Amino acid sequence: MIEIPESTTIARQAGTILVGKKISKVVQATSPHSFTWYNGDPKEYSRLLTGRTIESAIGHGAYVTLHCYDDTHIAISDGVNMKYHPALEPHPKKHQLLIEFEDKSFLAFTVSMYGGIQAFKGELDNPYYQGSLTKLSPLDENFDVAFFDQLFSSTQKDLSIKALLATEQRIPGLGNGVLQDILFLSGLHPKRKISTLSDLEKNDLFHCLKVTLQSMTDKGGRDTEKDFFGNKGGYKCILSQNTYKQPCPNCGGDIAKDAYLGGTVYYCFGCQKL
Ligand SMILES: [Zn+2]
Repeated sequence: MIEIPESTTIARQAGTILVGKKISKVVQATSPHSFTWYNGDPKEYSRLLTGRTIESAIGHGAYVTLHCYDDTHIAISDGVNMKYHPALEPHPKKHQLLIEFEDKSFLAFTVSMYGGIQAFKGELDNPYYQGSLTKLSPLDENFDVAFFDQLFSSTQKDLSIKALLATEQRIPGLGNGVLQDILFLSGLHPKRKISTLSDLEKNDLFHCLKVTLQSMTDKGGRDTEKDFFGNKGGYKCILSQNTYKQPCPNCGGDIAKDAYLGGTVYYCFGCQKL
């Protein structure tokens, strides 16, 4: 799934390759997928996009948007894999959209579980999309201790740490994926109630959140996700589906795996006490 490190990485990579390329053809899905969300009728995408030149690529929250001239845009959300292919490669058999450029290089969009591929002119009327553009990113220097404190005081309810940080789009693009290492490094259990955190723990959490997301971004995303060229990211996740059967790198204990708030959480029984 695309989260902050991946959207930033994919946009940076896409920007270096795609800017200036003109779209010559849009190929409809060869493999229809019930949980691929389009903006309106995807058959309209050809008329909307053909002839447009890519102007820039921006990562924001869990979205990557390709901006074209004439105020036309293509946005993908988490769950969509947008892969670049050079001119000589054959088109993949299965995709949920394919965009070819004048030089015959192309983008193939595929969705595994669910995701949105949205082409539009002007604005996209979607609260998640708008939130990801307007809310402060943890990679921004203005996302500081005072801002972080405000997140805690903005909710009346005694939420768990996972609920506060990774639900309700309070921090767009901070999802269940990146959360695991942030909490492991902070020594905090994902189900711990925010009212029980000391100032010191809150401060540690803030620093781990900033440093971990920056490190994941600097290393080109996480090794559980693929980038614009189809390669895994360079950040080795401490806790993920790939590592949870290994002992805790800190204490050697077992790692727990629970379904919690719409995603699997991993944590160390010893290092992240409830
Ligand atoms: Zn441990």
